Amino acid sequence: MKVLSVASEVFPLIKTGGLADVAGALPIALAPLGISMRTVMPGYPIVRDRIGKAREIAVIPDLLGKPARLLFTEHAGLELYVIDCPDLFDREGGPYVDTAGKDYIDNWQRFAALSRVAADLANGIDPAWAPDIVHGHDWQAGLAPVYLKYSEVGPHTPSVLTIHNIAFQGQFSAQIFPALGLPPAAFAVDGVEYYGDIGYLKGGLRTAWAITTVSPTYAEEILEPQFGMGLEGLIGERVHDLIGIVNGIDDDVWNPEKDRHIAAGYNGVNLARRAENRAALEKRFGLAATDGPIFCVVSRLTWQKGIDLVIDVADEIVAHGGKLAVLGSGDPLLEEGMRAAAARHPGRVAIVFGYDEPLSHLMQAGSDAILIPSRFEPCGLTQLYGLRYGCVPIVGRTGGLSDTIIDANGAALAARVATGIQFSPVDRHGLSQALRRAFRLFEDGPAWASIQKTAMKSDVSWQTSARQYASLYKTLINRVAVP
Ligand code: ADP
Repeated sequence: MKVLSVASEVFPLIKTGGLADVAGALPIALAPLGISMRTVMPGYPIVRDRIGKAREIAVIPDLLGKPARLLFTEHAGLELYVIDCPDLFDREGGPYVDTAGKDYIDNWQRFAALSRVAADLANGIDPAWAPDIVHGHDWQAGLAPVYLKYSEVGPHTPSVLTIHNIAFQGQFSAQIFPALGLPPAAFAVDGVEYYGDIGYLKGGLRTAWAITTVSPTYAEEILEPQFGMGLEGLIGERVHDLIGIVNGIDDDVWNPEKDRHIAAGYNGVNLARRAENRAALEKRFGLAATDGPIFCVVSRLTWQKGIDLVIDVADEIVAHGGKLAVLGSGDPLLEEGMRAAAARHPGRVAIVFGYDEPLSHLMQAGSDAILIPSRFEPCGLTQLYGLRYGCVPIVGRTGGLSDTIIDANGAALAARVATGIQFSPVDRHGLSQALRRAFRLFEDGPAWASIQKTAMKSDVSWQTSARQYASLYKTLINRVAVP
C-alpha cells in the first residue's frame, strides 16, 4: 500500500512542534506493516540545505502563479517529495512566521501550494509513484482533500486529515478564492466556505474521507464548543468518520539507553545515571545542588500550555524546597513572568529561552518531573518522553494527557501501575494540589522510584498506533463509493 503524507514540518529536517515528530516517525513505523509512506513538504531553505542533492521529478510552471519544481530524495529513512518554489518558501524566518514572529501574509498561497502538489501526486505527476491514500496533517494540508474532491480526473484518491491542534485553522479572506484554482462549486458549505471566509482546516474536515485526531479523548472533546473552536458542529456531523489515535515516540531519537545528548545508559530497572544528568542540568541552568525535586517545563510558552499557572506556582515550588527549570519561548508576557520568577529565586528558578533540541533531552533525563498543565492538549509528546526517561509527568486531565498517564492515586500506587500525576480542574489550585502530592511522593523515595520505573516501562512506541492507521487506510481503500 502506498500512502502520501502531506506535512508542513518533518523531523529531523524542520520542527516547531509535535507535528514534525509525528510526520517524521510515522513512515518509519508503518514500513514493517507493508505500507510505503512518502512525504511531500515545502522546500524551506533549511530543508534544501539538509537534503543536498535531490532528483527532479517534475517542473511545475504555474503553482498558484509561481514557478516550481518537484524534487525527490531519501533522507534519514524518509522518502521525501520536496517542493522547490523559492518565491513561496525561500524566507529567512520560520516555516510560518517571519523573523519578527509575524505570520507570512502569503501563508494562504504557500500552503495551498503544498496541498495542490499533494493532489497532483495523487493524480499522477510522478509517473513512477502515485499514492493509494493521501494523508494530510493540520490546516496546512487542509486543502489536499479539497483539491482531490474537486479534481476533474477520477477516481478520487481516498484522503485522511489529521488534526494535531484545532486551534490553528488557516482562515483567510474569500478574496483569495479565485487564486486557489478550485471550481466555483468549492466555495460552499460542502467545500471551503467558512462564515463567508475560506477555512483550510474546515474544507479539509468537510471533504476528507476520514478524520483522525491524536488521542481518543481529544476526539471526544472537539465535539464540544469548549474544545471544538467553532468546528464542533461540523465534526459532530462527521463523527462516524472520526477516530482518535494516540501518537507514539521515535525510539531511535528518544531512548535513555543510547541518547547522545545525555549521560545515557539507564533504563527502567537501573536509574543510577539519572543523577549525572541531574547534576549536568543544574550546572546548565545555574541551579543550586540541593536535594529537592527539579520540575521542568519544555514547551511553547502559551496560554494553551498553562504557562501562566506555572508562573503562579513558582514561589510555592521554591518554598517547598523544589527547583524549576524552563526551556521555551513564546508569549512575551509569559516570558516576562518567567523572567521575574527567576529573578526572585536565583539558583532555584531558571529559564533558557529559545528552541534547543539537545537540551530538551537533558531536561527529561535530569529533571525529576515535567509540568504539563495544558488547558487542552490534543496528544502531547513531552509527557511521553517524560515516561520514557523516568521524568514523572504532572499533567492536566485533558486530551492525550488523560489517555497516556495513569494517576498516582492510592489504588494505582498499590497496584504499581501509576506513571504520573493528573489534576483537574486545570487551574492554579489544581496545579498546587498536584505539586503537594508530588512533594509527598518524592519524599518517600521508594514510592517515587516505583512511579519512575513503571513509567519507563509504559508502551509509548508507535507500534499500536501504526497498526490503527494501517487498518484505517485499508478500510478506506475498500470503500467503493466516493463520500
Ligand atoms: P505542541 O506540538 O503543541 O507544541 P507537543 O508536546 O505535542 O506540543 O510537542 C512539542 C514538541 O516540541 C516536543 O518534541 C518538545 O520536546 C518540543 N519542544 C517544545 N519546546 C521546545 C524547546 N523550547 N526546545 C526544544 N524542544 C522543544
